[in-house]
Amino acid sequence: MDHFTFADMKKIKRENLGDVVPLELFRTIRLIGLYQALPANGKATTVTIGRKIGEELGVTTVTELFELFENLKIGIPTILSEDEKGMTVAVHDCFCEGLPVMEGKMVCDLEGAIMEGALTKMRGKRVSVKEVKCNVHGDEYCEYQVRY
Ligand SMILES: [Zn+2]
Repeated sequence: MDHFTFADMKKIKRENLGDVVPLELFRTIRLIGLYQALPANGKATTVTIGRKIGEELGVTTVTELFELFENLKIGIPTILSEDEKGMTVAVHDCFCEGLPVMEGKMVCDLEGAIMEGALTKMRGKRVSVKEVKCNVHGDEYCEYQVRY
């Protein structure tokens, strides 16, 4: 065996520390690790990582994808508007909620790329997802523009 699947990620046998890690660890990996350590805030890398994760989630509907986002505590997505060309998705309770505001910065591109990977696989053709609002940007919630 040389390949992990998303199903493997649920095989947890940790005696003392259980199956949950603190949000501060996730944030540290995301923001101090990826965002601050990589060139251009890790843009190219987070897109690659996110798309790959999205493709591997095994979700087949938008409802399943959004439920998984909530179950994995990535955030709570809701569709604000939708037409044949795409949709606008708000994510409340995003991992970035509560962080200091940084002028002109948005930090939730990985989460958008996960959506992008999952939706592209689901629809069988390239879907693009762009982060357009972020708590860190001073917005009230994070928001994504999805284009089919
Ligand atoms: Zn955000």
